[in-house]
Amino acid sequence: MATNKRTSEHLRYRYGICLNENCDKCKSKEVQEIPTRKEFICQNPDCGKPLRECPPPKKGISKQVLLGILAALLVVSGVVAYLLFGGKEKESLSKPKPAVVATIDSDSIRAAQQAEDQIAMKQKQDSLQAVADSLARVAEEARLAEEKAKEKAQSTPAPAKPVTPTTPRSSSGSKDLGYATFKGTWPNDVNGRMIFKTSHVIDNRDPKGRIAEAGDYVIGEFSEGHLVQGIWYGADNVVKGSVIIGK
Ligand SMILES: [Zn+2]
Repeated sequence: MATNKRTSEHLRYRYGICLNENCDKCKSKEVQEIPTRKEFICQNPDCGKPLRECPPPKKGISKQVLLGILAALLVVSGVVAYLLFGGKEKESLSKPKPAVVATIDSDSIRAAQQAEDQIAMKQKQDSLQAVADSLARVAEEARLAEEKAKEKAQSTPAPAKPVTPTTPRSSSGSKDLGYATFKGTWPNDVNGRMIFKTSHVIDNRDPKGRIAEAGDYVIGEFSEGHLVQGIWYGADNVVKGSVIIGK
């Protein structure tokens, strides 16, 4: 970009010095920049003599800046290479500095490429790791879902069964517990029904201490007179929750 600009500048201007010894611009040896479309004469209003063409003034600063940028680039790439490969690239770093521009050669290019390769490899490893992670996560989720489904299947022995007074096991009898009536085979029944007559804790072993209201009932597995697991319904036959206590 900078070079382009300079080239176009060079095309748009001519440069000359005045040779009139009586002219200030001659005395100061000023290089005058004259647009190409203008007459190539001294810009001193008191002079106006034709100029002698000369090369454009050296843009020393911009060249220096360019060299500085190149040197900085080299230093940066050298540091990167050094950090990445330890002392391996020390050699190229310890080369005499004056050869800085010339040193942007195969060495630093190779170092940069190696660095790139290294980064690409790291990224590849990272993405592989990410894939493995997500696979593990999916597997874990699947396992959890399966467990949940199993648990659900266990805790709903009669899923969505219309809870109408069709007492399936009325033949097994019933037991009056005072606060509740148990329908089924007391004290062990895999599908017993506890109908609460008054507000009472569902099971005194329930760590959550859930309390059924009068009219609520629980259908589920009972063992030694204790609820193992079951579904808790309200008097309106709406499920209030599942109760899993265990044996
Ligand atoms: Zn002049």
